[in-house]
Amino acid sequence: MENLLQCPKCFSELRRELPNFKCADCSYIVPTIGAGVPIFVEECGSNVDLRDSFDEGAEIEGLLKKLPHDAKILNVGSRLKGLKALHGGVRNLDNCYYSNVDFVADLQELPFKNDCLDAILLVDALEHTKKPADALEHVYRALKPGGYLYVNISFLRPTHAASGDYRRYTENGIKALFKNYHEIDFGVSVGPSATLSRIIREYLAILTSFGSERLYKLGINFWGLLTFWIKYFDFFMKKNRMAGKLASCFYAIYRKPCG
Ligand SMILES: [Zn+2]
Repeated sequence: MENLLQCPKCFSELRRELPNFKCADCSYIVPTIGAGVPIFVEECGSNVDLRDSFDEGAEIEGLLKKLPHDAKILNVGSRLKGLKALHGGVRNLDNCYYSNVDFVADLQELPFKNDCLDAILLVDALEHTKKPADALEHVYRALKPGGYLYVNISFLRPTHAASGDYRRYTENGIKALFKNYHEIDFGVSVGPSATLSRIIREYLAILTSFGSERLYKLGINFWGLLTFWIKYFDFFMKKNRMAGKLASCFYAIYRKPCG
C-alpha cells in the first residue's frame, strides 16, 4: 500500500528513498521508524500496550470476509491485534508508533491518494481526532467509489486519555456525519449494560480516590473486578430497539456512492 501514499505538503507522488520516503516534486522527506514505517506526524510516541481483542467483533469480521483478497484496507487506530489475521490486506495507521503500525499519521491529514482504498476502518478513532470534519473529508477522498467504511464510535463512555479524547456522538449525530454515504448497516456494538458497568466502576474509583491519581488507578482495577459482570446483561438486549438510548458504542457500515 506504500505506492498509494502522497506527499503531505504538495500531494504529489512519494517515492521510496531508503530508509525514507521522498516527494518526487517538492523533495519533502518523510522519515521512517522501525522496519521502514513512514512518520507523517511531528511527535511520535510509542510503547503503548496492544489490545488483544475488542468488544465489537461480528460486523467488522463479516465485512472483511466479504472483501476480495487484493483489497486495500486501512485500519485507523491500530491497537487491535486481530484484524490483520482476518484479512491480509489490512494495514494499520495510527498517530503513535506501536509494533503493528504500518503508517504513523494523523487521520485529519491522511497521506493517501484520492479514490485508492477499498475500505477504511475507523474503530474508536473519530473521537480522538481534533478536527473531525477534516478527518472525514480525507476519509471520503481516499476511499474508492463503492468503497466501504466501517465505523465504531463511542456514545456513553467515560473519557479515556489514549491519544486525547475529544467528543461523543449520538445515533442521530453519527447518521448526520455520514449522510453522504449509503448506509449498509447500523447498530449498537457495545450495549447499555457495558455502559452501566463502566460508569459504576468509574464512579466508585473517583469516589475512593480522594483526588489521588494513584488511588484512582488502583480503584479502576479493584472496582472493575467487582462490577465487570454487569456487562453480560447486554446478552438480553441484543435485539432490543431501545438499547441505543444508553449504548456505550455504535457501529455502522457505509459505502461511498459510485457516481
Ligand atoms: Zn511534495
